[in-house]
Amino acid sequence: MSEFSYFQTRGWIEVVVGSMFSGKTEELIRRVRRAEFAKLKVQVFKPIIDNRYREKEVTSHNQNTVNAIPLKDIEEIWDHLSPKTRVVGIDEGQFFSPQIVNIVQDLADRGLRVIIAGLDTDWKGQAFEPMPTLMAIAENVTKQHAVCMTCGAPASRTQKIAGGDSLIEVGATESYEARCREHFIPRVDSMKDLNRSI
Ligand code: ADP
Ligand code: MG
Repeated sequence: MSEFSYFQTRGWIEVVVGSMFSGKTEELIRRVRRAEFAKLKVQVFKPIIDNRYREKEVTSHNQNTVNAIPLKDIEEIWDHLSPKTRVVGIDEGQFFSPQIVNIVQDLADRGLRVIIAGLDTDWKGQAFEPMPTLMAIAENVTKQHAVCMTCGAPASRTQKIAGGDSLIEVGATESYEARCREHFIPRVDSMKDLNRSI
């Protein structure tokens, strides 16, 4: 899919969505590396979702890493964008404001390739804006799947297994696991170990 980027002369938007652990960050990093092989200048951005963490990189759950610029809000991208940049990567897109939609349109209209990774649904199984709107305006959308921690089937949902019921619980990957539609329940599942069939 990202293969056609070799021949790309115009801007466009790619979106990579799925549950937690579905490999969105891995896929973003893969596409970024391929663009770098093509000697294109790439910049990757991510939201500062917790002021304690301002690491200048994006890391997947299997510890693959790429440099990234943390942004307080998406408008801040203009302060960091280099005129030489041809490809923009954005991770954790669901944590940016709806203003991201106009900004990535603007970038694509200027001829940049924009790749945005993020959660399509929250732990209640509801659409997680702004990702659904970004999916609608994108030229290309990839839905990734994790592995269901209850049965091993492809997982499309993020199950909350610990903690409170706030929408965003930052840095607490141990509070979530991937589940398929059948085993997902839209509330905190503290009984998870009783549900296991694998
Ligand atoms: P995402 O950005 O979608 O949360 P990452 O790209 O950071 O996902 O991590 C994907 C990696 O997570 C996989 O390659 C695998 O090593 C690990 N992983 C942990 N739990 C699962 C799971 N339930 N299903 C699939 N991969 C998992
Ligand atoms: Mg990720």
